[in-house]
Amino acid sequence: MAIRNIVKEGDGILGKKCRPVEKFDRRLHILLDDMAETLADANGAGLAAPQVGVLRRVFIMDFGDGKGVIEAVNPRIVERRGKQEDVEGCLSSPGEYGITRRPRRVKMVAQDRFGKEFTFEGEDLSARCVCHEYDHLDGILFKQHVVRMLDPEDLA
Ligand code: ZN
Repeated sequence: MAIRNIVKEGDGILGKKCRPVEKFDRRLHILLDDMAETLADANGAGLAAPQVGVLRRVFIMDFGDGKGVIEAVNPRIVERRGKQEDVEGCLSSPGEYGITRRPRRVKMVAQDRFGKEFTFEGEDLSARCVCHEYDHLDGILFKQHVVRMLDPEDLA
């Protein structure tokens, strides 16, 4: 495993649409393992493949709840319910935070690293994270959902 470089906002790769994964091979597994190590090193909740320079429909999430890393390949959000507003940031925009408006609950269907389909239901933080990471696959950054950016003093 290896820690990969996280692409920062301003790099054009973050504005691109990612292609579906077709091969569930060793290469994909190495990508997922490296992303997990990169996410842990950065202390984040989610990381999408384009953030490590790979334009494929893959993201991972880890909420530090002991349940480990959730790997989503070729995800689709099939249901969005309710609304929430909360603080959001992005590993590609270090030190910047804003209040975003997101659905309170989402249902996602995705494939695991072997191509097996599964359903994930997210609420509050995990719903926000699914929406945020999913957006990365379509070249959308969280600032497009921000109602209000926060000043650094707001966070102290
Ligand atoms: Zn992000």
